[in-house]
Amino acid sequence: MLAELGVLAALEKHGARLKRLDGRLHGGKRKVLDVRYDALGPDAHGLAVHRAALFDQLLNTAHADGATLEYGKEGSGVETSGNGAAIQFGGKDRSPTFDLIVDALGVRSPLVKRVNSHLPFGALWANAPFPAGHGFDESVLSQRYRSADVSSGVMPIGSIDEGGERLAAFFWTLRADAYPAWRDAPLDHWKAEVLALWPEAATVLAHFTSHDQFVFAQYAHHTAKFPVEGRVVHIGDAWHAASPQLGQGANMALLDALALANALNETDDIDAALSAFVKARRGHVRLYQTISWLFTPVYQSNLKVIPALRDVFAQPLSVTWPMPKLLASIVAGTLGSR
Ligand SMILES: Cc1cc2nc3c(=O)[nH]c(=O)nc-3n(C[C@H](O)[C@H](O)[C@H](O)COP(=O)(O)OP(=O)(O)OC[C@H]3O[C@@H](n4cnc5c(N)ncnc54)[C@H](O)[C@@H]3O)c2cc1C
Repeated sequence: MLAELGVLAALEKHGARLKRLDGRLHGGKRKVLDVRYDALGPDAHGLAVHRAALFDQLLNTAHADGATLEYGKEGSGVETSGNGAAIQFGGKDRSPTFDLIVDALGVRSPLVKRVNSHLPFGALWANAPFPAGHGFDESVLSQRYRSADVSSGVMPIGSIDEGGERLAAFFWTLRADAYPAWRDAPLDHWKAEVLALWPEAATVLAHFTSHDQFVFAQYAHHTAKFPVEGRVVHIGDAWHAASPQLGQGANMALLDALALANALNETDDIDAALSAFVKARRGHVRLYQTISWLFTPVYQSNLKVIPALRDVFAQPLSVTWPMPKLLASIVAGTLGSR
């Protein structure tokens, strides 16, 4: 997919080549997530990238392809007329009428009707220098859990610029209603809590001195009923958003973009292209939305029994046929894809 979009070579220089995902219970001994990409083949790997690196490469490609970009406008709705549609920018300001509008405005797209789709949990996120040589390996995505309401991760994300500092994304799961109390309490209280779960994370934590270094992201789960509405097509999170535990949101958004581009390249009949796009993507989207929905209580909830079962069965299951290959294909995004 990245190769077809023309960004693979550059991203391979920025990204970290991932061999496996390693999630353990507090104490670090018992594994409850053990996924190895090489179950899919000797060269199979993940490519962990900072989203700014991905965005820069896609932007360069758009410029090179002659796209005209306009900045500083906030879409508020669409106006359809005959076989076309225009974007409204609030008030009377609107775009010219186009043959097709691609809504890639993400989970809060004002072009999609949805009820509140936010989940109770989210996470604090921040970047730090990758703690290489301090018990962390850039080819491994590491996580620690206690039940399903406390978890943390140190994930390699490569560098933003070629040859730049190698970075890690750090996360700490938090309920949205606990965020104000976290902000009000001294940072050191929280750091002590993290260290109790994961003493090895000390090198990463040393980089954090202020609450302002963190972004709190509340997760959402929703699937828009109609990915195509007249001459508007919703792609990425605007169509289907999910909690990020499978790490597939960006992959799915790019797969949508590629499938839409391919469908439009096949024919001049836009309606036929849109039908072909939906046909190509609907099954894969449904499958991943379902898997994500099933996994959410296992990794982000206040439940006790499901995580307790996870703690007992996940490790033996993950090494039993056909699970190694199945798990690897889930996190590679290839399960059920054409
Ligand atoms: C904390 C967190 C961690 C994640 N981790 C991963 C991960 O490890 N791997 C992974 O694959 N995915 C991950 N995801 C999911 C991933 O970020 C999304 O699925 C992906 O970014 C969706 O891409 P998109 O282009 O559809 O939307 P977005 O990336 O959200 O882009 C939407 C764009 O539209 C702009 N926009 C929004 N509203 C308007 C408006 N009204 N007018 C004009 N512009 C507007 C926004 O500013 C933004 O630039 C994570 C998500 C979160 C919240």
